[in-house]
Amino acid sequence: MGKSSLVLSFKKEQSSLPSLPSARLRTARDLVRAGLIAPGREGAIEAVAERYAMAIPPALAALIGDRADPIGLQFVPDEAELVTAPGESADPIADEALSPIPGIVHRYPDRVLLKPILACPVYCRFCFRREQVGPDGGVLGEAALARAYEWVAARPDIREVILTGGDPLMLSPRRLGAIVAALSAIAHLQTLRVHSRVPVAAPERVTEEMAAALGGGAPLWLVLHANHAREITEAVRAAVRRLLAAGVPVLGQSVLLAGVNDSEEALAGLFRAMIAARIKPYYLHQLDRAPGTARFHVPIARGRALLAALRGRIPGHAIPTYVLDIPGGAGKVPVGPDFLAGEEAVRDPAGRLHRLAPAMSSG
Ligand code: SF4
Repeated sequence: MGKSSLVLSFKKEQSSLPSLPSARLRTARDLVRAGLIAPGREGAIEAVAERYAMAIPPALAALIGDRADPIGLQFVPDEAELVTAPGESADPIADEALSPIPGIVHRYPDRVLLKPILACPVYCRFCFRREQVGPDGGVLGEAALARAYEWVAARPDIREVILTGGDPLMLSPRRLGAIVAALSAIAHLQTLRVHSRVPVAAPERVTEEMAAALGGGAPLWLVLHANHAREITEAVRAAVRRLLAAGVPVLGQSVLLAGVNDSEEALAGLFRAMIAARIKPYYLHQLDRAPGTARFHVPIARGRALLAALRGRIPGHAIPTYVLDIPGGAGKVPVGPDFLAGEEAVRDPAGRLHRLAPAMSSG
């Protein structure tokens, strides 16, 4: 489903859309004024922004030194995005094919995605849902939400609903709290999860009221998206503290991105910054092959080598699982390194081989 048709399946409720600070950078001219693109490049960058949504909120704009630094690369558009490489797909993990009704994606037997809104606080240049998300603010209306609740309520095998989007924290605390309450009333749901970039991109939105809305129902885990240690600022740490105080544990998810975090130092720094902020690193994602994202691609072999190098260098609870979402929607699988060398030997983090005692016979 293309962006326009997907957005049409959502009820547009402009009045309920969030108001973010007007200092968000939204046009090529804004980027020139901020010194992030050279004068004269507006036309080319505007063409990219017309194809894929663009916005950079103040919290992130303040972190960008130049467009080629690890923060700028993630958010400043580039002409290369208009080139679709072989193997790239508008719907790389088949959300559309696995969507039985608007707003729901059903990939695994025991959990579903619910996308209540398609807007984000920032538009990442490598986003795997870049054909769907945008500031035109598709919000799932009340009738569609009610249908989604009924659909979940009728399927007792489903134990978890994952709110994603877009970014669910772009909704008001009142609307988000109503969704959490409605889902919490479904007896067979044990847990909820929310995937969000807001605590990093617009931490001021994570008020005590927002945290209370999230923590007021079924056990809920928030999965925060950050890709570089510099994204974890004091404002982010404060937002995480508010979430934790409301009973919402925080996990971290990151994407392995060329030029952003594809070095041992960058990943070690990111995961150390996460645990210091009380965020448990959960997943490091291999990049999904969305259109125009080739400049961020890191080969899996390189990712495995980086993860192997982190073992022993940083605490074990700081190391996330390196995962690939199988193209076509077959689900996530770990693709990280393993240290076994056959049945009776193992390698240590320095690569030295150690023999193990022979297996005991159970007979
Ligand atoms: S915040 Fe998430 S959904 Fe939104 S553009 Fe970034 S990666 Fe995509």
